[in-house]
Amino acid sequence: MRTVAVTGATGFIASHTIALLLEAGYAVRGTVRSLARPEAHAFLTGLPGAAERLRLVEADLLKPQSFDAAVAGCDTVLHMASPYVMTVADPQRDLVDPAVQGTLSVLGACARTPSVSRVVLTSSMAAVTDEPESAVLLTEANWNTRSSLTRNPYYFSKAEAERAAWAFVETEKPGFDLVAINPFIVIGPSLTPQLNTSNAILADLLKGTYPGIIDLTWGMVDVRDVALAHLRAAETPAAAGRYLCAGDTITMREVVGLLRGLNVPGGRLPSLGLDNPVGSLLVRLLSYTQPQGVGSYLRSHIGRAPRYDTAKIQRDLGLSFRDIRGSIVDTVADMTRWGHVGR
Ligand code: NDP
Repeated sequence: MRTVAVTGATGFIASHTIALLLEAGYAVRGTVRSLARPEAHAFLTGLPGAAERLRLVEADLLKPQSFDAAVAGCDTVLHMASPYVMTVADPQRDLVDPAVQGTLSVLGACARTPSVSRVVLTSSMAAVTDEPESAVLLTEANWNTRSSLTRNPYYFSKAEAERAAWAFVETEKPGFDLVAINPFIVIGPSLTPQLNTSNAILADLLKGTYPGIIDLTWGMVDVRDVALAHLRAAETPAAAGRYLCAGDTITMREVVGLLRGLNVPGGRLPSLGLDNPVGSLLVRLLSYTQPQGVGSYLRSHIGRAPRYDTAKIQRDLGLSFRDIRGSIVDTVADMTRWGHVGR
């Protein structure tokens, strides 16, 4: 039986991936920061097959050597752990250090472990662009070179981590090969009680957090497709390089229209149309009153629609993407079930 290690097992994407791996018959080693409260991991240990084939071990991205025990004896390692937050007190300490040092720590542990033949890194479209241009069709060849500690720092952390991973493979020539999955905004039903940062976009719209409908266009992908992409990347010997992982794009106006049709109790959807030149100017000015992560995101994304080519993942990993509108409906039903919205 093959054993797959998954870092950051408690995460939104990781928990779906672990469920899929267990369903496919793998033994799974999941890393969590602390085993002190087993009830906090009940959503993982209660998965079908978990009692027999899931083992949780402690590891922290910032503790050197902490992944050695986690990857020992594994064939494949899916490195998913990384802080995914838009607003932090110290971007270097809270985002870049755990993303980059953590990635190097996991790769170092894998390089010391002869059984590991493949590492799949959960990178992001944040490593591809932080300012999409409608004239540019994004592919795996594109790299985000614009983010910094002051401009889209989460994006910076992901771009730096993926760069560090490829540089590690280039210089260290380890016994494993590296594959990166670069998802766009991931939404969908959650196995964990926590509200993920990406699903929170939909929750925030329902809670009236946005002053109006902004000229934003999002590339989105269902978490179940992202989990399958990781499984296929683990199972496909010929998989190589990076893979853009995204379903359709959708505008904020379309999302709001869709959410309005769902009649979520207590929903306070925006109605003021700011998705026009005057509105965009106003939002741009207002963005300077926002925390840096949010403000720089708005300034680099207003009025810009990403265009991307996902032919590589469809061809190499046989992936097809769900209709994102159906995923939005499923996400809202799930957020209502968890009590994140609908009160
Ligand atoms: P979650 O926030 O749900 O999961 C993040 C995971 O990382 C958690 O398990 C968290 O552990 C763990 N983690 C964070 N910091 C540390 C640390 N210092 N040491 C050990 N573990 C740590 O995020 P997602 O599931 O959404 O994201 C998973 C991966 O996918 C990330 O790499 C993210 O950048 C990437 N991604 C996500 C997208 C999205 O839209 N959701 C889009 C593209 C990429 P704990 O529970 O203890 O906090």
